[in-house]
Amino acid sequence: MRIETQCLHEGYTPKNGEPRVVPICQSTTYVFDSTEQIADLFNLPNRHMYSRFSNPTTDAVEQKIAALEGGVGAMCTSSGQAASLLSILNLCHAGDSFVCSASVYGGTVNLFAYTLKKLGIECIFIDNDADDETIQNAIKPNTKLIFGETLANPTLSVFDIERYAKVAHANNIPLIVDNTFATPFLCRPIEFGADIVVHSTSKYMDGHALQIGGVIIDSGNFDWTNGKFPEFTEPDTSYHGIVYTKEFGNMAYIIKARMQLMRDFGAYPAAHSSFLLNLGLETLPLRMERYCLNGEKVARYFAASDKVESVTYPGLEGDKYYELAKKYLPKGTSGVISVSIKGGSKKAADFINGLKMTSKEVHVADIRTCVLHPASATHRQLTDEQLIKAGINPGLIRFSVGLENVEDILEDIDQSMKKL
Ligand SMILES: *Cc1c(COP(=O)(O)O)cnc(C)c1O
Repeated sequence: MRIETQCLHEGYTPKNGEPRVVPICQSTTYVFDSTEQIADLFNLPNRHMYSRFSNPTTDAVEQKIAALEGGVGAMCTSSGQAASLLSILNLCHAGDSFVCSASVYGGTVNLFAYTLKKLGIECIFIDNDADDETIQNAIKPNTKLIFGETLANPTLSVFDIERYAKVAHANNIPLIVDNTFATPFLCRPIEFGADIVVHSTSKYMDGHALQIGGVIIDSGNFDWTNGKFPEFTEPDTSYHGIVYTKEFGNMAYIIKARMQLMRDFGAYPAAHSSFLLNLGLETLPLRMERYCLNGEKVARYFAASDKVESVTYPGLEGDKYYELAKKYLPKGTSGVISVSIKGGSKKAADFINGLKMTSKEVHVADIRTCVLHPASATHRQLTDEQLIKAGINPGLIRFSVGLENVEDILEDIDQSMKKL
C-alpha cells in the first residue's frame, strides 16, 4: 500500500459485523478464563494484560505508525518528551554517553543536557553539519547511540541521516532520528539507515492541536548481539530471566522498551488520545501536501519583502539546506518558516501584534496558522545584545503556516507588514 492508503487502512481490519472505525477501548484491564492463561501471558506477553503496557486502541495506532515508517513495531507514549527519554534509556544507563546534533528541539536539549546528566548519562553535542571525522571523534567507548532531528525545530536544519548512520554503524551503535516535523509522509528515516525513529505526535501527526503524544518506532534492522548491548543478550532479572534478542528477534528493542520501561515509568497514552491521534493520521498525507504548498508560498512572500532581513526555509533555492532537503524531503519541507524581521525585537513583536487571523501561541504545526516570537516569549529575559550572543536573532519569529486558504494567510501578513 502507498502511504495515503496505509494512513486509512493499516493497524485495524474489522472482521464481519465489527465496527468500521477503530473503537475506543477505555478499559484498564482484560479478563481471562483461568490463572493458567494469565500465567502464560506473563511468560509470553502476546496479548493485552493491563493498559499501562498496551491497549487495543493504542495498539492499532502503533501498528499503523510502524507501517508508515517502515518499522517492525512501535510504542506510543504520553508525550514526545517521553518518547525521546525512553528511546535513550532503552540503550543507556549511568556511565554511558551518546552523541547528539546540537540543533535538536530545545526541550530535547534540556532533557539530554541537564536531566539525563543527573542520571549519570552524558550527552555529547556536536554541530548538526559536523564532518565524519568530527562525529567519529565525539564517539567514546561508552557511547551507545547517535541522535538527530530530520528537520530541526525551530532552526530548520536538515540532518544528513545517511552520513550519520554510516558513522554510527561503523562504530556498532544505532542512529535515532526525531522525525516530528517531516512526518513519514515527507521523509522515512529508516530508508536512509536510521535504526530507531521517534516523534512528538502533538505536531503534524495529530495535526489539530488536540492532545500531547509521542511514539517510538523500531526498524528491526540493528544487530543488538554485537557485544555492545548486554541488556539485550543477557537474562533480564526483572522479567524472569527473559533474553530479549533470543525471545523476540528483530523486535527486541521495542519489546524491551515496553516490558521494562513502559512497565516502570508508565508513560502510556489513554485510549481516547490514541483514537484522536488516529483521526489525525488518516488525513496526514492530504494535510502535509497543503502545509508544504502554503509554506513555500508564504516563505517566498517573506523572502521578497523589504521589511525582512532573512528567511530560513529549506525548500527555497539558496537556503543553506536546499540540497539536503532535495535528498531527504523531496515532497516539501513542511509549513514551518523562520523569519527575521528588520529592526530587532521591537519590530518583530509589532509585526506579530499586528496579525489578525494568525494565532499567537506556544505551539507549532497547528492546523491553524500560528506564530511565536522567541525573543519575547521563551527568551524574554535577555536584551537584544544577549540574544545575539546566544545565537538568537532578536527579530526572529517562528511562523507556522496552517491550512487556511493561502491568500488569507498572505493578506494577514501583508496588512501587518504595511503597518510596520
Ligand atoms: C514538540 C517536540 C518534542 C516534544 O514533544 P511533546 O509532545 O511536546 O512532549 C520533541 N521533538 C520535537 C522535534 C518537537 O517539535
